[in-house]
Amino acid sequence: MKTRKFGNIFDVSVLGFGAMRMPVSGGHVDENEAIKMIRYAIDHSVNYIDTAYFYHNGESEEIVGKALLDGYRSKTMLATKLPLMGNVKCREDFDRLLEGQLKKLRTDHIDFYLLHSVNKNTWNDVILKLNLLDKMETAKKDGKIGHIGFSFHDDHDTFIKIIDAYDKWEFCQIQYNYMDTDNQAGTSGLEYAGSKGIPVIVMEPVLGGKLANTPPSVQQIFDQYHTKRTAIEWALNFVWSRREVPMLLSGMSSMEQLKENLRYAENAQYNALTDEDMAMLARVKEAYGKLRPVPCTECKYCMPCPSGVDIPANFSIYNDTFAFGLEASKGGYMWIRGQQADLCTSCGQCESKCPQKIGISALMPKVHERLTS
Ligand code: SF4
Ligand code: SF4
Repeated sequence: MKTRKFGNIFDVSVLGFGAMRMPVSGGHVDENEAIKMIRYAIDHSVNYIDTAYFYHNGESEEIVGKALLDGYRSKTMLATKLPLMGNVKCREDFDRLLEGQLKKLRTDHIDFYLLHSVNKNTWNDVILKLNLLDKMETAKKDGKIGHIGFSFHDDHDTFIKIIDAYDKWEFCQIQYNYMDTDNQAGTSGLEYAGSKGIPVIVMEPVLGGKLANTPPSVQQIFDQYHTKRTAIEWALNFVWSRREVPMLLSGMSSMEQLKENLRYAENAQYNALTDEDMAMLARVKEAYGKLRPVPCTECKYCMPCPSGVDIPANFSIYNDTFAFGLEASKGGYMWIRGQQADLCTSCGQCESKCPQKIGISALMPKVHERLTS
């Protein structure tokens, strides 16, 4: 496993294990398989495991904690995140949540602790209002957390503001891939954090797996190109090329995916892509843009919907109709009966939670109309 300097903190494996898309069976995480995967990753020199309070409706931290028993905790760095919106209403909530997380993770310290999914609202209304940075520093002094960081979903200017507002950030985590160069923190945000010496962990390098399933118009571009790589390999290499990025997180859902990513990590290098490669990926991006009208990453931050709409599932099927054809995709809509777009009452409460700023309520009637046409 290749490693890179994570600031002056440690040498991190270029591939980190993201515990947000673990294998699921019967509506719950397949615990045995997930533990097997986490331990396999660590046995193959992955030394950064990333979870969060919300992942898998709270099951993720519990399972990561179990996976790190039997001596595995000492072999890896462990990261989790403080949930903000709706969960931290007073300063005491910080201590309550952190203690609960330590218990679930079966550890006395969390190496990397992040304020989760920071945006302009959570920054102003929760973090600054309750002075949570002071709580983070106290937790660090007490040895309960090792390093202070944040994960981010908002626009570029907000990212710069947050980076500049605090001089003790030790790392940050952003969504970045070749589709998102001008979205959220974007390439210029990544470069700005790098210029300040802040290591940037990248999440969603394959856009929630979406860049792995190439539609014909995209696959054709890859097929006609002289250098042969799989779609996933192109996406990962795009991120690994960046000097600001010590490690990328992949949310792997099967042992097969894990083994594939471990193979790709063997060849990770800075500046791996040529100018010609980048021009080819720009053509891929353009082709995808034509096929995916709704930029939903299926992060589920908008959920639950009070009317029972499975928002990301509806958008995923809707987008599929453009990528793979209406008839080929319509069947999926039947499977989410009871959670379909027509249940939307336009209450609007999901929209402020969407990091992609999607106009969800306005789109729902269009989704239903297309999928039932
Ligand atoms: S706007 Fe529609 S989809 Fe969003 S929470 Fe309200 S009912 Fe659900
Ligand atoms: S609609 Fe927005 S918040 Fe909901 S899953 Fe998609 S990207 Fe995430």
